[in-house]
Amino acid sequence: MQTGQVNIKDIHWLMNMLQSIDVGLIVLDRDYKVLVWNSFMENHSGIGPAIIKDKVLFDECPTIPEDWFRQKAESVFVLKNSAFTVWEQRPYLFLFKNYRPITGSADYMYQNITLIPLLSADNEVGHIGVLIYDVTDIAVNKIKLEEANKKLAELSKTDHLTQLNNRGAWEGYLEREYKRSIRSNHICSVVMFDIDHFKNVNDTYGHQAGDEVIRRTSALLKETMRLTDIAGRYGGEEFGVILVDTNSENALIFTERLRKRIEDEVVEYEGNKIKFTISLGISQLSKDCKTYQNWLEQSDQALYVCKESGRNKSEIYKSK
Ligand code: GH3
Ligand code: MG
Ligand code: MG
Repeated sequence: MQTGQVNIKDIHWLMNMLQSIDVGLIVLDRDYKVLVWNSFMENHSGIGPAIIKDKVLFDECPTIPEDWFRQKAESVFVLKNSAFTVWEQRPYLFLFKNYRPITGSADYMYQNITLIPLLSADNEVGHIGVLIYDVTDIAVNKIKLEEANKKLAELSKTDHLTQLNNRGAWEGYLEREYKRSIRSNHICSVVMFDIDHFKNVNDTYGHQAGDEVIRRTSALLKETMRLTDIAGRYGGEEFGVILVDTNSENALIFTERLRKRIEDEVVEYEGNKIKFTISLGISQLSKDCKTYQNWLEQSDQALYVCKESGRNKSEIYKSK
């Protein structure tokens, strides 16, 4: 055979190879009728080439998103350029079941798709080739990795004992609310509270009982606050709550409700009935707060006033 000449036998070999590759291969004409349908396509769809040959693709494979595919394919016919789509944009073109044991977590085959223009002798695109790559392994790995990263990010923001925001995460929210409220002149209050004589709880009933008291405190807090409020465990037995759109008078209604609920609570632990109380300091954001730390310090000062004057109280910060 001379260079540049194509022997019909060579085409036959080539077709045999394309038949058996582990990539889907389809050739379509201008009316979306199927000319080539390789064994990958047959194996995964269950439709043999003899059945689909000369039929309109969409009639035989109704799960294909027809409008989307036509739009893609028309651009290939007209512009004579290839087009691609990856699984992140559209997980699949053909709904094929995934039966690989290692990637058992996927229900269907993830696919990358390439559409290539097939030029005829008059330099027009009379046909297009569609290549379907099985990228299930890559997709499943990436999805699993993203899920693991998301979980890690959540864990790093959550306090293990109470499932509230931990100090770092909560301070992040406090800074965000501080900036937002200052910028848009919104009302916002912050509450810091602390369990009274908590050392006595640990000393009398043990550390585990102390942990149970902390857990119960956070559970009552979650029940008492609104969905939009943001709570965090600030330290050992110290908690912070950001009350959005709330002035100090309304914050006081919240703190008194929480204080009384906790006062009425009995934690039963290993046969002991444990009673406890909390003290709460409130600060409504004002122009005096030059930083979010100033704002938080004000609520801490109000909390200190409660501790100094007998505990089991809530106080609003008052500037001197
Ligand atoms: P006050 O009324 O002044 O707040 O008295 P207090 O005893 O609560 O004061 P303090 O803040 O000094 O004591 C806090 C104690 O909380 C000390 C520490 O051992 C204990 N603690 C800190 N974190 C934990 C925890 O995760 N679990 C338990 N059980 N105890 C903790
Ligand atoms: Mg305390
Ligand atoms: Mg404390």
